[in-house]
This record gives sequence, structure tokens and C-alpha cells, in this order.
Amino acid sequence: MPRATAADRPWLDALFLGPYGENDALLEKLVVEFLRDHVYWRRNFHPEDPPAISTRAAMHPEYQALEARLRGELHQLSAALKRSVPFHSPRYIGHMASDLLLPGLAAQILTLPYNPNNVSEDAAPVTIELEVKAGLQLARMLGYPDDTTRPDCAFGHLTSGGTVANYQALRLALALKAFPVALRAAGVPDIDVPGDDWTAFNLGPDAGIALLDRANTWLAAQPAREQRRWVRAVQKERLEFLGMVDFFARHPDLKVPKVLAPITAHYSWSKGLKLLGLGRNQLELLPERGMRLDADALDEVLARCERERQPVLLAVAVLGTTEYGTVDPVDAVVDARDRWTAQGLGFSVHVDGAWGGYLATLFRNEDGGLRTIDEVGEGFARFPLPEVHAAFAALGRTDSVTVDPHKLGYLPYGAGAFICRDHRAVALLAEAADYVFHDTREDDYHARYRRLGQFVPEGSKSGAAAAAVYVTHKVLPLDHAHFGRLPRQTVLAAEAFHAGSKRLAAAVDGVARVAVPFAPDSNLVCLAINPAGNADLAHANAFVRRLHDELRADPRQPLQMKQFFGSMTTLRPEAVGEAEMARILALVGLDPATLDPDGDDNDKLVILRHTLMNPYLIDHTNGISYIDGYLDHLARRIRALLAP
Ligand SMILES: *Cc1c(COP(=O)(O)O)cnc(C)c1O
Repeated sequence: MPRATAADRPWLDALFLGPYGENDALLEKLVVEFLRDHVYWRRNFHPEDPPAISTRAAMHPEYQALEARLRGELHQLSAALKRSVPFHSPRYIGHMASDLLLPGLAAQILTLPYNPNNVSEDAAPVTIELEVKAGLQLARMLGYPDDTTRPDCAFGHLTSGGTVANYQALRLALALKAFPVALRAAGVPDIDVPGDDWTAFNLGPDAGIALLDRANTWLAAQPAREQRRWVRAVQKERLEFLGMVDFFARHPDLKVPKVLAPITAHYSWSKGLKLLGLGRNQLELLPERGMRLDADALDEVLARCERERQPVLLAVAVLGTTEYGTVDPVDAVVDARDRWTAQGLGFSVHVDGAWGGYLATLFRNEDGGLRTIDEVGEGFARFPLPEVHAAFAALGRTDSVTVDPHKLGYLPYGAGAFICRDHRAVALLAEAADYVFHDTREDDYHARYRRLGQFVPEGSKSGAAAAAVYVTHKVLPLDHAHFGRLPRQTVLAAEAFHAGSKRLAAAVDGVARVAVPFAPDSNLVCLAINPAGNADLAHANAFVRRLHDELRADPRQPLQMKQFFGSMTTLRPEAVGEAEMARILALVGLDPATLDPDGDDNDKLVILRHTLMNPYLIDHTNGISYIDGYLDHLARRIRALLAP
């Protein structure tokens, strides 16, 4: 394995179980300590209750038979799990998974036997508070207000993953968009409700929240009987009550709104539109320019929507695309929202940061302030590009964000998170009408969200996952000096990989052409590879697929047969643009004329994809670089596969 040279990182040593299980004693000590602690808690609840299971029970043949069966099944499970994907190893640079942070793993194991259910405080008196606080920790990381005494404080909650968090973004944006129309239809007086349906439906998120606030204040001043009558009248006009068909039939000036997302968006957006009943056809995919959402194309689509009186629900920007790790211009998207909202075409902006959300820690000072591009960039070769810094700096102006603690948060599945900038809109998601309308002046933020199940898509949900997220953020606060050291390693690893790829290209010179198709924005790096002398796309794709076959998990083979794990993705002209596609093909000597949009495997370029999130890719103890090891391995395999 090649030697690495950078300095020691003692701060990293206690954070993970480690590639070799080096911290086994620490984890074991924690698990045993808190398992015992849990048992004492049981015993001390009512010590006067005698033990229900006799001390002789374990001597009974049936007890022993059951224990034997249990152990037998666990042995089989444990043996089968040896075929799992070795996410913990620095030889794994495939998908978005790695080792788990010990603080989160220990907190989760500690909490599991208490089995809290974060659906409501009755079932989770402790962990529901931790979930709401974890939401506020993430809000602060993003630059949202996190002071719960402020009426416009942010709110965040956990979900099973990024897919459900994105779904929650759609639900919230739709509720906020349609609510002013319901107020109008119900005839609520005296609160400056817009005079026509089109204006009411296209107010935009801030004006929508202000109207909701006025409605609450007005309602609170009415006599109790009147209040109940008005609540019923408004609820009956809401989109959530009527359903799409009846709502739009009653409001013929309105159409089902569109969601605008970059073509690189995750398929959870398609799922979300189907689930919500908006229909996949309402998802309009925007082209990229230079691997990022094209802000001019967004503007053109918005102009067309305005001309056609086509409402827009949400514009999505991706912070770290799943396939390439690229960062969309969040700043341009919020600028577009502000401009078009002022012109009467309001919509919300959601950032899908399922992958890249935690990179925001690199941009935060300990006091919560934003770091300058020079401060962030210290020690990096080129991160962050000005566009990337501008995107992260604009996060605080967006309406909501998805972040996946089970991705770059290094926590167990399923922990996703949804965070919105202004919590007042969340009331519109409540199942019970008395949560929708409430006197905001007398509101207690924490008391309100103790009925979490009122507002989230799920019902019963894991309190242990919430404990894991909260404790991790306490041990490693979400700023550059603490948690940020982890994503810092991943970006440094990506830069080392990028530099190493030039050595790989030189090492296989004359045998194959190797290039990084586009410089990485964050911590994913792709490689385009083409056998020397070949200009045909289908032939190059077949070769990269063969290479990838050796790098993918294969349950039929012993794990140890694999040297390294990588993943694969594709570049399509309709996603990256014709010009960008031609540039990338030329990098490895492929002829754009062999690209055929109706072809079988020549409608795209197949490339290798590497997720560089393992914290031990550069092993400072032994002076080993697994990145260089991987690139050397790749050079050997390319030469072997192309040997005459
Ligand atoms: C992973 C990912 C998702 C989906 O998240 P899950 O946790 O897998 O449900 C959505 N968007 C992006 C950008 C992602 O990377």
C-alpha cells in the first residue's frame, strides 16, 4: 500500500469502532454499562414486586430448548451477515455509507431497550424533546432561526430517510399554498385575504405565513362558539379535506401546481408527486449547465408558467447530488423565488441536502456565523468554489431542507431529517383542527411539538434514532471546529483522489485514457475510462461495466476476494447538456458521433463513481493511502483487462 504523509488526527481516534474494530473495548464498556443501568432502572421501579421469572426457570428443559433454538438462529444470522457489504473499510468507496459514529451508535443501543415511541410525549417523555432539539441543531447549522421564543423559529423533525423528508417538503408547501384559497372560500372577514383565487394561491411562503398568523389572531378574538364555527368552515374548504379533484373543480382559475427540480434530482421526487396525487407529470425537470441546475432555464420555465397561468409549488435545489456530489446554485433559486413572488408567482424553495447537508458544518463558526470563503478554503486545494460557497451561504434563505443523518451524519438507518425555516406553517399539517388554529401569542414551542405525530408523515417512530442524532450533535456540535472535521476529511480525500487520478492516467498511458469528467464540488469523484485507440461509446461503456463488475458487492463470492468496492453511474446528454457531453467524451478520446439517443448502450457514458466518506481513507498511523492503493489497483486491472 502506498505511503501517506499528513499529520496525526488524535481527535478522530475515539469516534468510530474503526476499520479493525480498534475501539471494541470502548464500545463494549459502554454497551455493558448502559445495559446494566437499564436493568437497575427496571428493578428500581417497584422493588416490592417480586421477580416474575423464577431463578429456576433457566433449568427447565423447555427454557433450555428455546435458548438453544434462539442461539442457533442467531448463529445463522450472524454467519449470514458476514456476507454484508464492508462499509466500515477504507477499501469501500462505493455508495453513501461508511462506519458509524460511536456517540450515535452507543446512544441508540442505550435507548433501544427503553423503546420510546416519538409519535407523542405519552410514549416518549424524553426522546421527543431530543428530536425537537435535534431539529433545532440542524436548523442552526443551516442558518435558520433556532431561538424558540421567536415566533418565526425554525422547526425540524426526523424521518425514516431523505425520501420521506422530501415528501414532507411537498406536503408542507402544498398546505401553505392552498390555505389562503380556503380562507377566501370560507369568507373569513377583516384579515386582508387576497381578492381572487389566483393571487391567494400564489402568495408565496412568507405572505402565506403572515396571512395564517392574521387568521389566528383574528380567530382568537372571536367568541368560543364563533371560533368553532369558523374553524369548521375553513377546514371544509381546504385542499387536504376536499382532495385535488373537488378543490380544483371549485377553483377553476387554478391548476394543479408544478414542482421544478434539476434533472439530477433523486427519484424520491417522482415518488413524492405520485404519493401526494399531484402526478408525476407535474414534476418538471430542469437542465443542467456545467453539472449544476441552470438558473437561466429555471427563469425561462417560470416565465412560461406565468404566461400559461400555471402555478408552481416548489423549486428544488440539490446540495450534493446523489450521483455526482455536485451543488446547485441555491442562491440563484432563492433569488428567483423572491423576484417571481414579487410579480405574483409565489412558490417555496426546498433544498435536497440528503447527501450534502452536513457539509454546511464546514461553513459555520462556533457562534453560528457564516465563515468566509477564505476561512472555509484553508488547507484545501480548490474547495469551496465561489459557486459552492454562495450556495451554502444562501441556505438560511430557503424555505425547507432535507438532511440525512444516516448518510454524512454517520448514523444508523433510518434517520433522515426535514427542517423548515419558519415553524408556523407546520400547524397546517396537523390532523386535529385545534392544532391548525391556535393563538400564536400564547404558544409554547416545545409543548406544541410534544404531539409530533400530529405533524409528521409517520405515526409510531423510533425514539432511539432521535437520541442517536441528538447525542451525536452534542458530542460534535455542528460547526467547522467539531463535526466539520469529518466532512473536511471527506473533501480532502476527494482532492487527493482527484490529484491521484492524474497519476493513474499517466500510469495507463498508451493502454487506456482516464479522466475526471468534472472537478468534484464536494466528496464524490467520478472517472471516465476508455481503452486507447477506441472512439466508440458502446465499446468504452462495455469496458467500464467489466471493471465495475469487479468492484461491486457479489454475494456469491467470499468477501475477501474483493480488493476494493466502487460504484457506477452514467452521464446523459439530456442531463448534462450537449456541449458538456461533447467536452467529456473528448477528454477520453470518444467520438460524439457514436452517441445515439435511441441507442442501446450508446445513449450515455458509463463512468465509475466513488464516494469518499470513510474517515480512514488516509491511515496516518501506518502511513497508508487507500486512495492511492485503489488507483494502483485500477491501473493493474485496466492493464490486465486490456492485455493483448
Ligand atoms: C439519498 C438521497 C435521497 C433519499 O434519501 P433516503 O434516505 O435514501 O430515503 C434523496 N435525495 C438525495 C439527494 C439523496 O442523496
